[in-house]
Amino acid sequence: MKGKHDFSAFYNLGNEGALKLLRLYLSNPKEFNRRADGYISLFNKYHFTTGNVPSRWCAWYGTDNKLWEDGYADCDALKRAVSKGELVELPNDPQRLGFFIDPDIGDRDGDHQFKHRAFYRTNTREAWGMALYVAYEYRRLLKAEKITFDPLKVAGAVRSVWYQNKLGTTAIPVHVAGLAIDFSYKDMTEEQKYRLKLLLDTLTNLGLLSFTDEENGNHFHVVVPKDKATREFYRGVYLKFFLN
Ligand SMILES: [Zn+2]
Repeated sequence: MKGKHDFSAFYNLGNEGALKLLRLYLSNPKEFNRRADGYISLFNKYHFTTGNVPSRWCAWYGTDNKLWEDGYADCDALKRAVSKGELVELPNDPQRLGFFIDPDIGDRDGDHQFKHRAFYRTNTREAWGMALYVAYEYRRLLKAEKITFDPLKVAGAVRSVWYQNKLGTTAIPVHVAGLAIDFSYKDMTEEQKYRLKLLLDTLTNLGLLSFTDEENGNHFHVVVPKDKATREFYRGVYLKFFLN
């Protein structure tokens, strides 16, 4: 089916996901059942109350986000992380990266910390790796379908707990751990938005991320899963991208 313009690579990825589950079922039925019966994702729970019910796949792949407890408290914490190289800024190169940072990012932090807004343009390497990966696949998908590609707009990256509280929007502080990206769809065509959602659904099915549609903010809130292998995968994407 490859090459017949239906992007069959996605089916292949879906099959791999199903095989992964089957292997778990065969090798460790107890764990399989534990996930099936006992798993309550805070991510699901929170978003359920806001009307968004993300995929049950989150449970299978353990992409619960309740463990993001180590957030950056305030701008000083962000500053320290930047100077240590834990948080990094990307070059402004939308065509190469496949996305750009919204110039208004962090604009609600008020006059008091206005001079610190540049910190909100940073994120961890794994979060950027995830953004690069999503943008790469998104571009590939649009190209295969002959749909115009416009670089994605990142409307949210790292935030301090201070700023997150000010926004007052979430019980899950993933932005404050530098592990979330908001992709705005405000300026997208319906065709583009549909493809981006299709891609995010597929990557969720594979346990490579989880996301919710934050309709109020016109963006998809996309989160790096907590498992080590996936985080290493994204760090690898980041490193390869900037070494080449
Ligand atoms: Zn978000």
